[in-house]
Amino acid sequence: MKSSEEPLTNRLSKLSSTDLIKLTSGEDFWHSSSLIDDHIPNFRMSDGPNGLRYQADKGDALGINNSVPSTCFPTASAIACTWDPELIRRMGRAIGQEARSLNVDMVLGPGINIKRNPLCGRNFEYFSEDPYLAGTIGAAWIKGLQSQGVGACVKHFAGNNQENDRLRSDSLIDQTALHELYLAAFQIAVTRAQPEGVMCSYNKVNGTYASDNPYLLTTVLRQQWRFKGSVITDWGALNNKIASINAGTDLEMPSSNHLFDKQALAGLKTGQLQNKALYRAAENVIKIAEKKRPVFKGDRSALLKEGGQLAQKIEESAAVLLKNDNQVLPIKSSDEVAVIGEMAAHTRYQGAGSSHINPPESVTILQGLDHMGVHYQYQQGYSLSNQKSDQFITSAVALAKKADKVIFVAGLPGNDESEGFDRKNMQLPVIQNVLIDRIAAINPNVIVLLVAGAPVELPWLKDVKGVLNLYLGGQYVGNAAANLLLGKVNPSGKLAESYPINYMDVPSAAIYDHNPQSVGYAESVYVGYRYYEKSGTPVAFPFGYGLSYTTFKISRIEIDTDMIRESQSIHVKADITNTGNVDGAEVIQVYVGNEEDRPLKPLKELKGFKKVVIRAGQTKSVTVELPAQSFFEWCDASQKWQLPLGHKFIIIGDSSNNVVFSTRIQSKGISFPDKKNLPIWYSKPQGKPTLADFSKMSGLEIKKKVVPKPGQYTKLNTPRELSMHSFIIRKMIKRMKEARLKGISEPNSAAVKFEETIIMDSPLIRLAQQSEGKLSLKTVDKLVEIANRRYIKALL
Ligand code: BGC
Repeated sequence: MKSSEEPLTNRLSKLSSTDLIKLTSGEDFWHSSSLIDDHIPNFRMSDGPNGLRYQADKGDALGINNSVPSTCFPTASAIACTWDPELIRRMGRAIGQEARSLNVDMVLGPGINIKRNPLCGRNFEYFSEDPYLAGTIGAAWIKGLQSQGVGACVKHFAGNNQENDRLRSDSLIDQTALHELYLAAFQIAVTRAQPEGVMCSYNKVNGTYASDNPYLLTTVLRQQWRFKGSVITDWGALNNKIASINAGTDLEMPSSNHLFDKQALAGLKTGQLQNKALYRAAENVIKIAEKKRPVFKGDRSALLKEGGQLAQKIEESAAVLLKNDNQVLPIKSSDEVAVIGEMAAHTRYQGAGSSHINPPESVTILQGLDHMGVHYQYQQGYSLSNQKSDQFITSAVALAKKADKVIFVAGLPGNDESEGFDRKNMQLPVIQNVLIDRIAAINPNVIVLLVAGAPVELPWLKDVKGVLNLYLGGQYVGNAAANLLLGKVNPSGKLAESYPINYMDVPSAAIYDHNPQSVGYAESVYVGYRYYEKSGTPVAFPFGYGLSYTTFKISRIEIDTDMIRESQSIHVKADITNTGNVDGAEVIQVYVGNEEDRPLKPLKELKGFKKVVIRAGQTKSVTVELPAQSFFEWCDASQKWQLPLGHKFIIIGDSSNNVVFSTRIQSKGISFPDKKNLPIWYSKPQGKPTLADFSKMSGLEIKKKVVPKPGQYTKLNTPRELSMHSFIIRKMIKRMKEARLKGISEPNSAAVKFEETIIMDSPLIRLAQQSEGKLSLKTVDKLVEIANRRYIKALL
């Protein structure tokens, strides 16, 4: 019998402790470790999730070193707006095929973190502010990918909702918000699609690093959700080797050159590292490595061609028509069109960081219009590289004056939207807002195309006739934009997040990022529409909103029961009629509502939806199933989701705030422990939450921000902090920075900003973990001693 045919438990018992520990750390940047003598292979991972980032040579998590050409799909914030799980399943499948064509075993995605605040630098990589939508779209993507024999690694588990100081931030989240909002998307993805991997995040959750967190990794993920796969750390997120394996982490990535193996071996001897936990970790890693996966025999270039077509189709289904007064769109062939904005010629189609894809081809908005034979005149209008734009403004205004319609392409510059750091505000570059104002004053038919992975303030909204939100639309965004503008494709995207009017309307606006060391999620469950609706805060556009070139009517609504019972689904049936004269698609949205005065309960929460294509004049009947769990609430005392006793509402709409039907229905569940003594804000969220109320409600203590001084530094301090008081460290870091940034050609790019953030704001120990042995633990200790001004100790 070949050794690999022996049962895994037998083989595991024959491995030495050193080998078992070796299996729990990566071999290099993208591979798990192999044990050649024991016939245990490694497995290969590559980034996603809006395509495949396969680096054949030197690996990095920044998207700086080149990757093999692969299809660049629209990013997550766009694809969620399709509200079309079937289409997104096809996207996962296509990425799976591209992955197999390069022998990739696992793709690192999708990212399904909740958009707590619009400034999170990585929002373009996440689906929604709503866990049901994020989980449903995520599960579809995973199923598609895994249907091709490729494992998905859903990320970043959990509470990773900001980028600033993400390697140390502590997300303090009360139990209701944790389960009903932040974990709920992961729960749907894990229980519906069983991904092979879950990536634990960099940050702490309620005081414990995600990689060391037994509650998250074992109690919730493995025991409550019955996750069968492997927990893999985010790249460099391992905090404590022993605690992490005991807590439920299986694999530390990338290779830290087995920096902590000795410590783990010693821990095994003293019993600190549990034998059982080590076996579990090694077994989970081997299972993925030994999984039989299909061998790709086709033609990779044909795959890329199909992938490109699918990427365009997804963008066409994702773009959200936000405004269309007097039917300014679609454009007619007789219209004299002016296109203004540099982003029309240099259209961004993805964000920066580890998800950065290298597509074989990309199409800008101008090229898309050219492909469709549209006659237009173009003016740059503004400069994305922040050069003086005055010269462009005059010519743009002159052009706008004589055009019938102006298509103004507005958007965020590339170095605003990246992994690694957050946006500073929710504004478009000022020059774009100024220019839109000037043009709207002289031309009544301005249509703004938005190119941004997250919401921006739209101060000129009432002065323009049309707004089409493209988000970050993938490699063929230009073709998709042209088809939508011309009406060759009817827009059908619906916002997967609310569009606030001003940043200060966001419930977490004043507290977001105010102290990463202790981040109180004071707004609790009131994120996005859950807050705007209960607090009565107006938004520019609500969650679920999106127009079409046709109109729809929802009628004849029927619900098949008058009582919610523990284990019975409810079916909501309705007719949708296309009342206009072009074909189109509508999304029926089903929300479950709560009585108004209930504490920690939003007025409504999305629990079901369906997108249907309907021909002009036709009616289609749709049924949305609400499993009994749609009405369950998290009960912390029993650590379970349970059906409450009382009443719920079933609400139907075509956005979160356009209700076409609502009915109150009795729920035959249990009485939950009382939540009456909570601060009033959690029942009536007027204005903004306070951290003091949050502490009272959650029992979580918000710590004061500590600025370290010499004598207090540890390995968890960053080069920026260490260099504050030390000239020697400043010099050393300058050298390190120069070496790492050498050869990068674009000094203002997002990649450079990200790299600088990594160098200056990563804890020293994390830099050592990711340095491939170049920064030893000994040097880290010395640097800390120097910063603490213990020079003699540093010399020893
Ligand atoms: C990111 C992950 C990514 C990993 C590997 C990390 O910096 O947070 O999302 O998968 O790098 O590139």
